[in-house]
Amino acid sequence: MSLAPGATIGVLGGGQLGRMTALAAARLGCRAAVLAPEAEAPAADVAWRHWQAGYDDSGALAEFLAVVDVVTLEWENVPVSALAAIAAQKPMRPGAEVLRITQDRLLEKSFVAGLDVPVAPFARVDDVDALMAGLDQLGPRAVLKTRRFGYDGKGQEVLGPESRSADAFTRLGGEALILEAFVPFERELSVIVARRPNGEMRCFPPVENRHQAQILVETIAPAELPGSVARSAIDIAERIAAALRLEGLLAVEMFLEPGGRLLVNELAPRPHNSGHWTIDGCTVSQFEQQVRAILDLPLGDTTPLAPCVMQNLLGDAIDAWPAILAEPGACLHLYGKREARPGRKMGHVTRFRR
Ligand code: AMP
Repeated sequence: MSLAPGATIGVLGGGQLGRMTALAAARLGCRAAVLAPEAEAPAADVAWRHWQAGYDDSGALAEFLAVVDVVTLEWENVPVSALAAIAAQKPMRPGAEVLRITQDRLLEKSFVAGLDVPVAPFARVDDVDALMAGLDQLGPRAVLKTRRFGYDGKGQEVLGPESRSADAFTRLGGEALILEAFVPFERELSVIVARRPNGEMRCFPPVENRHQAQILVETIAPAELPGSVARSAIDIAERIAAALRLEGLLAVEMFLEPGGRLLVNELAPRPHNSGHWTIDGCTVSQFEQQVRAILDLPLGDTTPLAPCVMQNLLGDAIDAWPAILAEPGACLHLYGKREARPGRKMGHVTRFRR
């Protein structure tokens, strides 16, 4: 059953993704309530109500659940135990099973591979022997990653013949790792798919993502791709969303190999940095699409209004805001974060390509 505009949306997590979700909810006549542990929460500045509390704080959670109609999240590492408790009281979209799979790179890669969707060859690494065997099998270059809690290149290391040592295993925490073959990709792409509880799906077109030091710096939307590759990227995203029985939004990050083959790298069951361009570049943004999907309302048109480029403002790059404000056609978004640490996502700017 659809939840009408006017609903109160519970958001777990207080970062910029939650902030933009709350703004999109407001545009549809809804209210956002935020529950997040961090002291400074960009989402809280624009939310109707805010609890600064841990996800396992039963008192805060009870108050939060009493006022919301549906719960979603902007950070996928909320403990699955908390999600299951929430789902017993209010619709949790996406659900705990989607989160269980996408919180763990090994489960995620196994799930995707099980759908006959290509991923980089990978091996489970629980000890140094498994690392050495994995390097023999997948090397000479490979990427060692923590299975959980990795983002923006944190919790991973590229290993080559010259750096083939047990030290990396210890540096990354000494357990629950995954080793992946290094993919000599041509470009990195992503597709954001929304799926309603009734099964309706819509994808935004594939975009190209450029990284520096493993942090996204620029998204080119839509990606300039042969039609067959774009269709294949969308088909992959829809197959994964359908198999997960997703309710909400899923970002699917992919590598494009020089020969045109796509490999799935990572899934994120929430709005994604590579979808920020949709706020200015589409009739319906990824954030509004998420709100529509979790309320089981008709999904919006994903056709771009015009090609554009989204640039992240990382760390001190935020100091350019006066010049960007003065720039014709620049759509500036600031997240209200007080401190500009190196690499921290402070805001973004979207410009139309002519
Ligand atoms: P991830 O946290 O898995 O999204 O990785 C962050 C970035 O590291 C990706 O966007 C790629 O640029 C790079 N990377 C991750 N895995 C691989 C891989 N198996 N082969 C080559 N580059 C990778």
